[in-house]
Amino acid sequence: MHAEIIAVGTEMLLGEIVDTNSKYISEGLADLGIDVYYHSLVGDNETRMEEVISLAAARSDLVILSGGLGPTPDDLTKQVVARFLQRKLVVDQVALRKISAFFEARKRTMTPNNKVQAMYIDGAVSLPNEVGLAVGNFYHSDQGADFLLLPGPPHEMETMFDQTAKPLLASQYQRSQILSTRLLRFYGIGESNLVTKLADLIDEQVNPTIAPYAKETEVTLRLTATGQTEAENQQLLDDLEEKISARVGRYLYGYGENNSLPAVVVEKLKQRGLTISAAESLTGGSFQAAVTAIPGASAVFPGGFVTYAAKQKEQMLGIDADLIERYGVVSEQTARAMAERTLALTDTDLALSFTGVAGPEELEGHPAGTVWIGLAGKQIPTSARLYSFQYDRSRVRNSAVMTGFSQLYQ
Ligand code: ATP
Ligand code: MG
Repeated sequence: MHAEIIAVGTEMLLGEIVDTNSKYISEGLADLGIDVYYHSLVGDNETRMEEVISLAAARSDLVILSGGLGPTPDDLTKQVVARFLQRKLVVDQVALRKISAFFEARKRTMTPNNKVQAMYIDGAVSLPNEVGLAVGNFYHSDQGADFLLLPGPPHEMETMFDQTAKPLLASQYQRSQILSTRLLRFYGIGESNLVTKLADLIDEQVNPTIAPYAKETEVTLRLTATGQTEAENQQLLDDLEEKISARVGRYLYGYGENNSLPAVVVEKLKQRGLTISAAESLTGGSFQAAVTAIPGASAVFPGGFVTYAAKQKEQMLGIDADLIERYGVVSEQTARAMAERTLALTDTDLALSFTGVAGPEELEGHPAGTVWIGLAGKQIPTSARLYSFQYDRSRVRNSAVMTGFSQLYQ
């Protein structure tokens, strides 16, 4: 069983927008254990759409298209797929009533092309659109490929995919076996290092499978188990996680799609009843922005400082000008002083400091990527650690922020 995804829209061929729908759909199919073999992209052109569709139908079990379900003349997906399947389009009366109500409520007249949005391929399941007007389609065929048609606007596509299409695909393709996944999130270890440490487990993987993925500042492993019951799957996942943890457990900080490192750290601080503040130089407030992006951050974060210039480290934090003069801004001493002064000024349990060279130019003779992260606390001795982050300015800053978080969960 394998699927392929086709994004429809000339604006993507022109480079005006990026195809994010296919990425979203692929991630969702991974959850279902459905392999995706191809992604393609085609403009709003009948002939070329036909070509791409017939190629896809010949080589894949499930063809998923996004875009081109709207009312304008360039929206052709449904029509082209219907013609390919030699089926006509029929009206979904419920969707049609919704569309007429939409126009009545706005005192606008509904044009015939709006009716197209309520049409679906005869024999398909019409998928309701909770946040827009065009219905989706799922067409199952006993002989050839199945088709899933989704709207183009990402919020419509995502809602329809999650609420209707995904459960439908699950029941269509996973009759006897159920699938359970677990996402393990690692910080502080690179992908190749992680994969090397788990090489034999990855080589012999059958059930559960292990899929590593490197993001900018972290690595994830998606474990997928297939079995008869949820309990059986959880046992398989537990066993594998145990083996993985025995080797790289110290880098494992959390689980699941929504538990980013900042979210895990904020939650942990909350549970322990601890508060945190920060003084940021090269990160310019990004750490504090990341803390406050987490709902409920107010329980752990009262405020902090952005002291970019040396003068502000003196004025806002009250650091000795002599200390900065003597050791430099990018120094262990300055990092420690920033953390300690912040702790005293905000009266929090913990305070972090970030000082370093974001680049691209060097500073005080230190190359770009040199970063000191200080940590002070009411119950712990003050420390400062030196890092040497790689790549460009934005990655250096992001890595500094995430490393700051990682110091708080260890
Ligand atoms: P509409 O009713 O809005 O016309 P539609 O189903 O016909 O919806 P399109 O016309 O193909 O969809 O696309 C509408 C908009 O949705 C595009 O202009 C684009 O902004 C966005 N969009 C479409 N396809 C994608 C995609 N694959 N990835 C990201 N955005 C997309
Ligand atoms: Mg359109």
